Amino acid sequence: MLIAQTPQGSPVSLYLARHNSPLVSSLRTQSLICPSCKSTVIVKAGQKVIPHFAHKSKAACRGFSENESAFHLLAKTSLNRWFLNQSLQTELEKNYADINRRADISVQIQQTDFAVEVQCSPISAELLQLRSADYRKVGAVPFWLLPSEFIQKSSMIKLSAFYQQFIRYSPAARQYYLLTYSPHEHTFTIYHHLIPLSKSLFLTSFNEYHQDTLYFPSFPIRPFSMSDSLYNVHIKMNEKWLVNVLRYRRSVKDPLLRKLYEANLSLYKTPPWVGLLLRSNIFFLSSPMEWQIHLYISMQRGRTFAKHQLIQELQQLIRRKVIHQRVLLDPPADYMFEQTVDELLNVLEKCDLILPVQSGYMLKKSGEAIGVKEETGLHSIREFHNRMKAQIIQEYNRR
Ligand SMILES: [Zn+2]
Repeated sequence: MLIAQTPQGSPVSLYLARHNSPLVSSLRTQSLICPSCKSTVIVKAGQKVIPHFAHKSKAACRGFSENESAFHLLAKTSLNRWFLNQSLQTELEKNYADINRRADISVQIQQTDFAVEVQCSPISAELLQLRSADYRKVGAVPFWLLPSEFIQKSSMIKLSAFYQQFIRYSPAARQYYLLTYSPHEHTFTIYHHLIPLSKSLFLTSFNEYHQDTLYFPSFPIRPFSMSDSLYNVHIKMNEKWLVNVLRYRRSVKDPLLRKLYEANLSLYKTPPWVGLLLRSNIFFLSSPMEWQIHLYISMQRGRTFAKHQLIQELQQLIRRKVIHQRVLLDPPADYMFEQTVDELLNVLEKCDLILPVQSGYMLKKSGEAIGVKEETGLHSIREFHNRMKAQIIQEYNRR
């Protein structure tokens, strides 16, 4: 921590203090306490670490986690300087007494209070949501930042579940993106428009900005448009999924294979469109092949099918944990299932694969399967996408 208290309750700050300064020397001899738990703190300062306070004993403290990293101290210091350079009003390690939480930095912009948190150590989705909800309860806007150092600067990135929780949505740029910060480089990195390829793999493009070129809280999110090459990577991943399932998933207990079997279908008898590239794919950890085949099974059950039937099907798949949802920082709205089915039906209609009828929709050419052999199967998938790619990309970009 950078701010401690005298036993009388006056704040004492080590912000921007030098390790060999008279201030640091004098604070070493004073008795000081933690503003959160009121236990004794001591000054820690040396050549390598920013002068800071640390609890004398390893008592549990809700306000400050023990062993605050040098990185975290540097991030707080560097971010605070950035805010002050923008003439913003800040309070380091502000205590929100009503919720008993301490933000790394509180930033005031007109009437809005941003609770800025640099999250270095993994925390659970539940705790992250709880802390965000607490800040909102007292009228503060939680603003989470991740350290840049652990994510590759690449157009294909692997994100652990912890990192994925920080994927945010920009309504203006209509995309999900990730924001990270490096206090060493004084840069923010934006990973634009994340396209999920698997549970943890994403396509993206990134930009690095020196902090002095940016103004909080607006970050330049680049407009996005889907390209042929990105589309092709998505299709490759679908093929990989298919080959993998054919090879390794044989159990009669497998929910997808069992459902196919019960519907008198098999993977070979699913249409080549399953696994469509949709914006909604990011809502799910499971492959779009997986959940779209489930919906296809539901579509072909009767002569026609209804939209609400597919929505219910999708909700049930999530409830039963057959399909898994992705946890994001800005979770999709409650009507996410409707949104997903809407997008799917729209593309199917535009590709002339379904027909709207009075009671809902009808599958067209429902007999067209991917082929009997694995080889011809992949061939018919590629043929479908060559024919429909332009249409599907157009719908993707329109959304
Ligand atoms: Zn404490």
